[in-house]
Amino acid sequence: MLWSGWGDPGRATKLAPDVLELLAEALGVTPPTGEPAGFGDVRLPEADLSPFVLASLRSIVGAQSVRTDADARIRHTRGKSTPDLLRMRMGDGSDAPDAVVLPGSHHEVSEVLRVCSAERVAVVPFGGGTSVVGGVTPLREGFAGVVALDVRRLDRLVSVDEESMLAELQPGLRGPQAEELLNARGLTLGHFPQSWEYATLGGFAAARSSGQASAGYGRFDDMVEGLTVATPVGDWELGRAPRSAAGPDLRHVVLGSEGAFGVITSMRLRVRRLPARRNWDAWRFPSFAAGRDAMRVLAQERRLPAVLRLSDETETMIGGGSGCLMVVGWEGGEPPTFPGAGHLGSEPAERWAEGRFGGPYLRDALIAAGATVETLETAAHWSGLPRLYEAVRLALEAALGRVIVMCHVSHLYETGASLYFTVVTAAGDDPLARWEAAKAKASEAIGLAGGTISHHHGVGRDHRAAYAAEIGPVGVGVMRAIKKSLDPMGILNPGVLVP
Ligand SMILES: Cc1cc2nc3c(=O)[nH]c(=O)nc-3n(C[C@H](O)[C@H](O)[C@H](O)COP(=O)(O)OP(=O)(O)OC[C@H]3O[C@@H](n4cnc5c(N)ncnc54)[C@H](O)[C@@H]3O)c2cc1C
Repeated sequence: MLWSGWGDPGRATKLAPDVLELLAEALGVTPPTGEPAGFGDVRLPEADLSPFVLASLRSIVGAQSVRTDADARIRHTRGKSTPDLLRMRMGDGSDAPDAVVLPGSHHEVSEVLRVCSAERVAVVPFGGGTSVVGGVTPLREGFAGVVALDVRRLDRLVSVDEESMLAELQPGLRGPQAEELLNARGLTLGHFPQSWEYATLGGFAAARSSGQASAGYGRFDDMVEGLTVATPVGDWELGRAPRSAAGPDLRHVVLGSEGAFGVITSMRLRVRRLPARRNWDAWRFPSFAAGRDAMRVLAQERRLPAVLRLSDETETMIGGGSGCLMVVGWEGGEPPTFPGAGHLGSEPAERWAEGRFGGPYLRDALIAAGATVETLETAAHWSGLPRLYEAVRLALEAALGRVIVMCHVSHLYETGASLYFTVVTAAGDDPLARWEAAKAKASEAIGLAGGTISHHHGVGRDHRAAYAAEIGPVGVGVMRAIKKSLDPMGILNPGVLVP
């Protein structure tokens, strides 16, 4: 993973001259002055762990699995939001952990937590590091150091129960690794977020991820039947039946816990048979409202295909089309049809499917060209979606002036859907401050319009205040009580999630 951008540096892309011209004309984008920092220019804080802590960690996981070199520290500094990338490009390594610890078993994870609790060392559970909400950027004040606990060595398919259609998988598996292991047995998870190539199963559960095929396969939290968690106060096994009336469902204390309550070391996940074929189809709707109505009807009649995604007019136009493009991916039976919309055939949808993991590379190219591009997302009930859509767009336009705000719907339910916005604007003199001011306005607009601060990116550090407002003082009290009970010394991901 590129330390200051996305993915495989070999797949980096450049913008065509006509795109650069368009950015300059439409948004006033000018090339950045000066070069971004190189790897060797990143300023790291002095490593702060005591020799005793380092020796204890080495005795638990083995000397080669405790890394204090600059390479490991830089690669575990922050996640992959645009502000994260901008800070790295400025050579700001101030959030780097002091060490990266790579445990190889549940027992080793538990032991690392025991030592770090006793020594008051902060621990950041680290999967693919693709968080876009500051989920791997803890506050270090008050701690005797910070370690990133990278779960990449926990990468096994432990077992498959084909009768129940369950697979036990470890959290360090990245999307493609997990699919490969399951596909070999004719099975699939069906979870394909845009970050799929680099994000891990543990991260999907801890941040309640939602993939591009969520219409048919559900969100990741829907797939989790059982969890094994290492906490500073002991091990926790959750989920022993498909459904249970034995009290509240405590799996949901762990799902979305963003590393603040424990480390997920194993998961029992619902799997499906690998479909013989994945088919694509595309439609053009006259308006975003008409497309949304068609989606709502499908969801409410329980006829959703695997993938259903509708772009608004602006997103469709930027992709070279007109009206509002709907992409349909289906795996069996007959695909849905939409009277009143234009049938475009499979080609536009196949093109989308082919390029669907390429977007983050384009973000790097845009940043290099002097633009800021970032995404934000929310969800609401169907009746509230039009107001939410307008409110967020207007807030971004008011804050940023010359800006392109695109939106799509790709996660939908009987009662509502999410809205996913992509924003492109000129970086300006201080891109960080400019974006953060706009994001604050958009978050405020989401709250006022009755949306949730996140449908699938999570809370992290960035959304903590908005989350506190969303759950209210009683909710904040509950979250703090859970934190105190599972992590009494507060070492797990301090500053993340819990208000
Ligand atoms: C370009 C891009 C596209 C994205 N597209 C999507 C998308 O389509 N859908 C979507 O839902 N999200 C998306 N995301 C957000 C992100 O990929 C998801 O939140 C993903 O679930 C994070 O997984 P990860 O393995 O990278 O976790 P990390 O970033 O490493 O961690 C995320 C959080 O989970 C915690 N954590 C990680 N592993 C564990 C564990 N084993 N136990 C306990 N806590 C743990 C961390 O401490 C952190 O708080 C995207 C991000 C980027 C950069």
